[in-house]
Amino acid sequence: ADPILRRAAQSAESPVPDEAWDRPVRPGEPPEPAGDVGEIMMYYQPQIAIATGELVGVEALLRWRHPRRGMVDPEELIRVAEQSAVMRLLTRRVVDDVMEQLAKWSAAGLRLRAAVNVSVRDLHTGEIADQIADRLARHGLAPDRLQLEITEGALMADPRRVLTTITRLHRIGVGIALDDFGTGYSSLQHLRRLPLSEVKVDRSFVLGMVDDADDAAIVRSTIELAKALGLRVVAEGVEDERSWRMLHAAGCDAAQGWFYARPMPAEELVAWMARYRPLRPLGGHDDAD
Ligand code: C2E
Ligand code: MG
Ligand code: MG
Ligand code: MG
Repeated sequence: ADPILRRAAQSAESPVPDEAWDRPVRPGEPPEPAGDVGEIMMYYQPQIAIATGELVGVEALLRWRHPRRGMVDPEELIRVAEQSAVMRLLTRRVVDDVMEQLAKWSAAGLRLRAAVNVSVRDLHTGEIADQIADRLARHGLAPDRLQLEITEGALMADPRRVLTTITRLHRIGVGIALDDFGTGYSSLQHLRRLPLSEVKVDRSFVLGMVDDADDAAIVRSTIELAKALGLRVVAEGVEDERSWRMLHAAGCDAAQGWFYARPMPAEELVAWMARYRPLRPLGGHDDAD
């Protein structure tokens, strides 16, 4: 079975400190328990340009099918993995899988852009930037086909080291998105200091915006702020037509959500693309008030 998953499965049941992962196996030590640990795979969720309905990219989202527990909640998986070296292994694997997928799409004539979520610890060393530079070259991919999504929580952990890695990736030409904007340790300093290309409005505000005036105000102000700073703005969690129209009226660039499509395996995405017919918001109809 997959050694990364075996580690993740074990740490999900009993968190193991880093040292335990990294120390060599002693002679006579019993082998790791055998057995199915399931599989990890990437799902992809379309991101749609609001004004034209065009597909602009996909967000890669990790899925783990555990043999006994079924689909594991990704937030739970990440939370547990982050407590050990498992996170680094997972991220390495995610980046490899997604970049391989981008190369396959390219070979099939699909110029998609993929966004990958990265975790706090992934940015503490330059390892991820080395890996990305290497895979871009190996697959002959343009750097702007890849985007990394970082959360504000991740930035707080060690701002200086994180900034060094992000700056390197930015220089390579990889896009950087600030994910879940408005939650966690929001700081407007991040918007000024980081070499960002995109801000993602957190889904909690987007989900509430139709019924809650405060949520709507937060979404509109975030869009305005991002645009004023020259950043692309993407809303996540668009579940219905009304939210979509409100986002259009507010000038949001792109959106993802169940209204368009749920995250799905790569094979399904190709079928979805073949079926997809862009919907355009009605001109002159402002539903935002
Ligand atoms: P995120 O990066 O903010 O991803 C967006 C989440 O919103 C995804 O949850 C997606 O399935 C969900 N979503 C999209 N559209 C809608 C909608 O219309 N309604 C609702 N209710 N939800 C929607 P998911 O896939 O469960 O992932 C949760 C979080 O786990 C992600 O939040 C991200 O922080 C983390 N994550 C997922 N994959 C990875 C990964 O490969 N690496 C890392 N480090 N974190 C990951
Ligand atoms: Mg994300
Ligand atoms: Mg998000
Ligand atoms: Mg999130």
